[in-house]
Amino acid sequence: MKSKDTLKHAGKRKQLVDILIGKGIKDASVLEAINTIPRHLFMDSSFDDHAYQDKAFPIGADQTISQPYTVAFQSELLRVERGDKVLEIGTGSGYQTAVLCELGCKVYSIERQQELFKKTKLFLPKLGYRPKHLSFGDGYKGLEEFAPYKGIIVTAGAPYVPKALLAQLEIGGRLVIPVGNDPQIMTLFIRKSDTKFEKHEFGEFRFVPLLENKN
Ligand code: SAH
Repeated sequence: MKSKDTLKHAGKRKQLVDILIGKGIKDASVLEAINTIPRHLFMDSSFDDHAYQDKAFPIGADQTISQPYTVAFQSELLRVERGDKVLEIGTGSGYQTAVLCELGCKVYSIERQQELFKKTKLFLPKLGYRPKHLSFGDGYKGLEEFAPYKGIIVTAGAPYVPKALLAQLEIGGRLVIPVGNDPQIMTLFIRKSDTKFEKHEFGEFRFVPLLENKN
């Protein structure tokens, strides 16, 4: 049985937001999303006391819910506005998906672990989050069916930048992707034209790997 959201949790969320501000996160809507979302409900109740630490935690299937600072940093880099269509690679616990929903995005998300896909698909609506589409599949391919996207966010470490993701960005769109093995370099691509992309790098982060399906 999952625990509920309480004033105690809300107080810890506020402290987490202050930590993120201290670490340089400035985007008010991102901070507000983190202040609103009951992160403890996205993980096992045994982590209840730790859920608002700025840390990653296990979510099953050898995966983790990303560290709040990382979620905030990537969300800030995406620079989305309400109504923007955004693709997430690596749904996992659904926490980043919920942040994008709070930011008013039309969210599409892909997960390759069936166990997590099924669990999160049932869980998000219980909290009132209604992404446009949750897909079970391979994020390396993106989600062509609904492309192009204003933003694409990859929440696992990509050994290289999948071509399909660059191709599914609209002109002016932004791809935020941690690139490399261990650690990854947070990288932003902005699509300037059909063929031109601007690239910016933002230092080291550590993610679980973006796995390739060997068929
Ligand atoms: N956004 C998630 C982060 C989960 S960790 C959260 O906030 O909880 C990264 C996720 O990427 C894992 O759930 C993992 O199963 C998934 N993943 C790894 N490789 C993938 C791929 N090729 N396609 C889609 N998802 C993938």
